[in-house]
Amino acid sequence: MALLTYQRIAALRNLLPSIGRHNILQFSTTPCVWNLDPNRSRFYPIKTDIMLPANCFAGKVAMVTGGGTGLGKGMTYTLSALGAKVMICSRNLEVLKKTAEEISSQTKNEVLAVSADVRNPEAIKSAVDECVAKFGLPTIVINNAAGNFICPTEMMSPNAFKTVIDIVLNGTAFTTLEVGKRLIEAKTGGVFLQITALFAETGSGFVTHSASAKAGVEALSKSLGAEWGRYGIRFNCIEPGGIETKGAFSRLSPDGMEMKRFKDRIPAGRTGHIAELSNLAAYLVSDYSSWMNGSIIKLDGGEQINISGSFNSLQEVSNQQWKDIIAKIRQVKGS
Ligand code: NAP
Repeated sequence: MALLTYQRIAALRNLLPSIGRHNILQFSTTPCVWNLDPNRSRFYPIKTDIMLPANCFAGKVAMVTGGGTGLGKGMTYTLSALGAKVMICSRNLEVLKKTAEEISSQTKNEVLAVSADVRNPEAIKSAVDECVAKFGLPTIVINNAAGNFICPTEMMSPNAFKTVIDIVLNGTAFTTLEVGKRLIEAKTGGVFLQITALFAETGSGFVTHSASAKAGVEALSKSLGAEWGRYGIRFNCIEPGGIETKGAFSRLSPDGMEMKRFKDRIPAGRTGHIAELSNLAAYLVSDYSSWMNGSIIKLDGGEQINISGSFNSLQEVSNQQWKDIIAKIRQVKGS
């Protein structure tokens, strides 16, 4: 099947406002879904309304790293709309403040913006202190902050590799240790959600730093889900497939090349919407999922199973070709 050019995909997307652009209040500032194949994607409607019951996070305090942009912003909106007080932290305080104001003006719940580089344990400690002083200790933590870019590994500097490991793996570990120790001390229980990636399980060339780091995050999550289960603290991971955010797409598909490949890869015929990820995340940090611990959930429109099944490329075989193939197989006698 011929691949669509990047320009043609972009044109197609603009021609399909019904599925491509959602002017729902809560997600009005987020980018759209790439409707790669209208014939298939019509079976996979996008629900952007909030799934959980109103106020189910009332009285809860949450912390979302990287909560100022992209998926983190979407998850922060959803938790805040459901009644949580949310502290968001990352490096860019200006962006965080703008997001906090935008979300709290819509949800009427407070969102606290704190500058913290997750590579620095002291900065995380101060951010958690600030949250405790303003809202109380967060019993919900979403480790979402990350950095990633495509690069042939032989062209990668040790510093580039180390930076991604420091943000993704060490940043998650530092945040988890800081809040986790306090939760154990306070005997409150709690829930951690880690946003990883499909390649955490499979590995992937050209993003070896991120694949190594995300695999480490999943190992940490499963290990602590067992070890800290006795303290009422549970851990789950979401592996998102392609969901358009500036942060992800500008560094992972800067020239649109990767986007071209999506068309044949995603059985649902479209990329994901931030609201879909946010609804799943909210469920996983809510009491509705209290029996879930140590799970790793793919949210990817079927992409991973499609690219990993050895015979899945047979989808390109026509019905006539299948008749010929089946006739040949029937003629085979013995082994
Ligand atoms: P994004 O908007 O770039 O989000 C990344 C966030 O991490 C930013 O808010 C950034 O804020 C923060 N961050 C980066 N370095 C940091 C540091 N040293 N300390 C603290 N915060 C830091 O991209 P996204 O697509 O929403 O990604 C969110 C998560 O989803 C990531 O874990 C990513 O790996 C995962 N994911 C996304 C996709 C996708 O298709 N979008 C697919 C698979 C996985 P500052 O710049 O202010 O620090």
